[in-house]
Amino acid sequence: MNALAATSRNFKQAAKLLGLDSKLEKSLLIPFREIKVECTIPKDDGTLVSFVGFRVQHDNARGPMKGGIRYHHEVGVQAKLSYSSLLIILNGILQVDPDEVNALAQLMTWKTAVANIPYGGAKGGIGCTPGKLSKSELERLTRVFTQKIHDLIGIHTDVPAPDMGTNSQTMAWILDEYSKFHGYSPAVVTGKPVGNTISCFKLCKLINSKDLGGSLGREAATGRGVLFATEVLLEEHGKKLEDQRFVIQGFGNVGSWAAQLISEAGGQVIAVSDVTGAIKNNKGLNIKELLKHSSENHGIRGFTGGEPIDPGSLLIEDCDVLIPAALGGVINRENANDIKAKFIVEAANHPTDPEADEILSKKGVVILPDIYANSGGVTVSYFEWVQNIQGFMWDEEKVNAELRTYIIRAFNNMKEMCKTYNCDLRMGAFTLGVNRVARATVLRGWEA
Ligand code: GLU
Repeated sequence: MNALAATSRNFKQAAKLLGLDSKLEKSLLIPFREIKVECTIPKDDGTLVSFVGFRVQHDNARGPMKGGIRYHHEVGVQAKLSYSSLLIILNGILQVDPDEVNALAQLMTWKTAVANIPYGGAKGGIGCTPGKLSKSELERLTRVFTQKIHDLIGIHTDVPAPDMGTNSQTMAWILDEYSKFHGYSPAVVTGKPVGNTISCFKLCKLINSKDLGGSLGREAATGRGVLFATEVLLEEHGKKLEDQRFVIQGFGNVGSWAAQLISEAGGQVIAVSDVTGAIKNNKGLNIKELLKHSSENHGIRGFTGGEPIDPGSLLIEDCDVLIPAALGGVINRENANDIKAKFIVEAANHPTDPEADEILSKKGVVILPDIYANSGGVTVSYFEWVQNIQGFMWDEEKVNAELRTYIIRAFNNMKEMCKTYNCDLRMGAFTLGVNRVARATVLRGWEA
């Protein structure tokens, strides 16, 4: 099922449980604004190349719209080819699927509401293969994209952040380009550089400075949020993290931080995958060694501390907790029946198709939904924005402690909704998020 259809289906189910007025339901689903821009840049060899960029601003009832910008060639190419992805392939153009960006923007609206941070939702992306562009080409692309959207983003309008294929350096370029038009405004993006996150000079590695207003703890935040969410879920089921075997799909920012923090907390990570391959060790992978290997070799392939396995079978490996931390739509009706995990923690956005949801719930698998499980990133983005606005800086202990409080509170709120509406965790999270956005909309004076 296409990402937008899947997200909208979950929203509609929540709206039905909440008994939302049908006109309000319709208006909550329609995005506030969809921006599509052509970004033409000279490549290093002097030839011109053009990329399509999107920003979908979904809803701003609860505050400025918030969400990442992803650079990825496969964004929108679903497990089953959608019409738009077919067009992408036929035209031979790398293009972000607007439907997918739209779904991701909508998920951000519910996610910020579940986390109870004062934001709406947005998402952006450029259809490109960042690994095939040089650093200066990426910088030119980011600057042109920012020039095209600078009037439509802002501290109190829409605040971008990193996502797949982008990082703190990308945010620094957006901040710099935006500031040429509007003056220096660090709170216009979050996920900005901190200390040694960009090693431009050797000196950077020696100081723990909060360069350009980045927040300590932001880089690890989504992975740390996944750890806290997993801990609270396991505790509720009378289980300890130390007794669980984990399988993690994806070893990018989210997957690698989740793996590192889970193994530091005593959990056994037995298999992981990334775009270069998949690796398994029944006795537990040495994540520190794997991180070192991965950064030296641009991927986990060739790591000798485990057996290579078929990446296609990673999701159906025998384990206790499965953490999809890569692309959407990976758990679907093709593989849902074969999944052996007892718990799925959705570190990625919309990794589970609604059809798979039904199959898994019949099997008794407990799924911690994306709009709750991966909310750690945007929550610490909020802390970063707050620090920038106040001109004040928190230490990392404070950031992590606050994050834990937010994750536990959201879990309890979500569980209350599950009790009220007699529903699973996904519907608990959706009813919580949708209810908060609907309330804000009505309080602001919505009329049919
Ligand atoms: N890209 C992250 C997400 O999907 C973080 C967004 C943000 O920090 O605004 O939640």
